[in-house]
Amino acid sequence: MDTVRAARYPFLRDSAKLAEDNGADVESLVSSESYAQARSRGLERVLDALENSEVSYRPLMSDFDRLMEIMSYPYARIIVSCINDRFLTKRYALAESVRMNKLLGSDEDKTVAFVANELGVNASADGNGLRMHFGDYLRFSTRIKSPEWKLINTEVHDGYVVLAKEKFDRVLQNALQDRIESELPLSVPEAFISSMRSDIDHISVILSETKSRYSPTGGGPIDLDFMPPCMKAILSQAHNGMNLPHSARFALVSFLHALGMDSTQILALFAESPDFDESKSSYQIRHITGELSGTEGYTPPECSTMKTNGICFNDDNLCRSEHMNHPLTYYRVKSGTSRRQG
Ligand code: SF4
Repeated sequence: MDTVRAARYPFLRDSAKLAEDNGADVESLVSSESYAQARSRGLERVLDALENSEVSYRPLMSDFDRLMEIMSYPYARIIVSCINDRFLTKRYALAESVRMNKLLGSDEDKTVAFVANELGVNASADGNGLRMHFGDYLRFSTRIKSPEWKLINTEVHDGYVVLAKEKFDRVLQNALQDRIESELPLSVPEAFISSMRSDIDHISVILSETKSRYSPTGGGPIDLDFMPPCMKAILSQAHNGMNLPHSARFALVSFLHALGMDSTQILALFAESPDFDESKSSYQIRHITGELSGTEGYTPPECSTMKTNGICFNDDNLCRSEHMNHPLTYYRVKSGTSRRQG
């Protein structure tokens, strides 16, 4: 078995086999002193995800280092599962997959094809480069928007897309990200949670700081004065009893939710409309905010979509500045400028 490969890519079946051959199990991992290094590295994996969006690399000199690296992976996944926060899970999945992408860059084609197969991707390396079945290519590349990634712009032979290594690795990054997101959260026994309490609490604190940093309001209170002109216009139309098109209602609710308002607070804003229908509005709002489906809800549309939908109202000078492409960016810039002036 290639133990370095098993440690570099700890999601492989070889990695699980290596752990098993060494008598490593999850119970010892969370509690035994022998696995302190794996726990500390597991914690580091999650911190790296939150702070750098990429899991860092550690040298794998000895068999012991490799075993600890492999066991750090389930430890990180258990921490993420215990916290069970969608933002954290997505960020962790991205950070692990970015790390894999970088490592693949320095590995040979046959290793890359091996990792691809382990991720369930139908692929091969035949001495003339890397190929991936077009079905898998489509499945994992559609979210990459630039035209060069469209299937029509690739070279396809016998149902396989011929890809430069860099692009092949990028598609695998999406495959690993999807896999981790679909596998988490794991079900974690209560006894494990108690043993891991300080690591879970530590990550929870960093998570909430990171979320505040990313929040359009910077974690501060929401000030509707900083809303972009489009959202102010839509809100004013609602207050005046005008019949809002679905796209406008959707844009406003998802925008307010992204600022941090919950369904009840948004409903209270709509309640000022003369034709307010509480049960209908409540259903629509709870659908958009994800409360009905137990998800994070929808992302508000960017300026180009607002323009296409004819709801980019009263754009001002800030709207016309070079980097303005999203109503949330408008809010961030406006509130940041105001804070600096204050
Ligand atoms: S440019 Fe963007 S932020 Fe400004 S009004 Fe139009 S949609 Fe809103």
